[in-house]
Amino acid sequence: MLEKVLIANRGEIALRILRACRELGIRTVAVYSKADRDLMHVRLADEAVCIGPAPSSQSYLNIPSIISAAEVTDADAIHPGYGFLAENADFAEIVERSGFTFIGPRAETIRLMGNKVSAIEAMKKAGVPTVPGSGGPVGEDADEALRLGREIGYPVIIKAAAGGGGRGMRVVESEHQLLNAITLTRSEAKNAFGDDTVYMEKFLQHPRHVEIQVLADGQGNVVHLGDRDCSLQRRHQKVVEEAPAPGIPEDIKQEVAERCVRACLEINYRGAGTFEFLYEDGHFYFIEMNTRVQVEHPVSEMITGVDIVKQQLLVAGGQALQIRQSDVVMNGHAIEVRINAEDPHTFTPSPGKISYFHAPGGNGVRVDSHIYSGYTVPPYYDSLIGKLITWGPDRATAFARMRNALEEVVVEGIKTNIPLHRDKIFRDKGFAAGGIDIHYLEKKLRTQ
Ligand code: ADP
Repeated sequence: MLEKVLIANRGEIALRILRACRELGIRTVAVYSKADRDLMHVRLADEAVCIGPAPSSQSYLNIPSIISAAEVTDADAIHPGYGFLAENADFAEIVERSGFTFIGPRAETIRLMGNKVSAIEAMKKAGVPTVPGSGGPVGEDADEALRLGREIGYPVIIKAAAGGGGRGMRVVESEHQLLNAITLTRSEAKNAFGDDTVYMEKFLQHPRHVEIQVLADGQGNVVHLGDRDCSLQRRHQKVVEEAPAPGIPEDIKQEVAERCVRACLEINYRGAGTFEFLYEDGHFYFIEMNTRVQVEHPVSEMITGVDIVKQQLLVAGGQALQIRQSDVVMNGHAIEVRINAEDPHTFTPSPGKISYFHAPGGNGVRVDSHIYSGYTVPPYYDSLIGKLITWGPDRATAFARMRNALEEVVVEGIKTNIPLHRDKIFRDKGFAAGGIDIHYLEKKLRTQ
């Protein structure tokens, strides 16, 4: 069992991790930048260490500083949260080499999944369905690339193996653009990620984004916690997530979830993880695996009753997973909206002082947020200031509760995207019907 955990993150996820540690009687160390002294979890942690100036490159991404903080506080493990260093294999390796437990998979697993080409190869081998494509790097041979394009069929998408965050991708509509697109993506990938490996996939026209949550202990036990639909996106950023994904036949979901479990066994996965898929016309296509806790993990927690972060902590402490697949019973429906400090029309960030905050409440309402009245949102980091999650015995009730919660919540002093959720998204009939594709929100925003 872990005794003291250093939380190498900030904001809502740092508070979320702190709460899970406390429930388990684990002491906590908060690390924070000079701009983050007033964060809620910094106040609540047993110990707090300033790790550097405001820019994340000098604080939350500063590996030596974080390791020193773990040393001086005598922590035994480091939880990376999401973002920042969470999927940095070198960091995981350094943490372990310095004598601490990294709360996540082994560094080699992070590395394997961090490269999309090797991840796809591993998934294919394990029987997880992937997008029809090159199945490996696209080489320098122009004739070969053209042959591949014809075989896959246009449109295709060229993607950087080392890409992430929606960067390093280019859609190709027809053959005459192909070679140019490959050259461009290659050079962009070289500049952005230091690796010019690219691969080719069929470009799906109307996919949904559906993902499978897994938990594994690296000791032969793996369960899945069902699926989430995260199709409501803007610029590849998720805006609303829900579980389960509406309108997909149970047998199709079951089949893909079981394949994810088998893949975890095959790569000896450890910790919490997410298999991301595009779903179109009854088929799942793997696109990538996230080897960390995700922003949208609460919706899976709400329908399964499993605390994903507590499970991460228990597994990292060396415990075998106590949950069996038969213990995981899906109950009802959950939705999460991301509250961002941004203009609801232009999406420009809106940092500043929150003069007043009132949290919504009631049956089936959960608020994961670090903000409070008088808190100042710094301009240096991601604009996510909290998440509203509602649960209901069915989807319609979860939606009704979310509409209530969005009416009740008050954030004054800064602009937020709450009006977008309240006045547009949760009044939209298409979204309420379920099963919208990943382009739906952007199309809506363009036509209004
Ligand atoms: P990243 O790691 O940058 O997030 P992903 O491989 O997860 O990259 O893809 C990000 C997004 O790009 C997907 O959610 C989807 O919207 C779009 N996308 C990626 N591959 C395809 C594809 N083959 N067909 C259609 N859209 C795609």
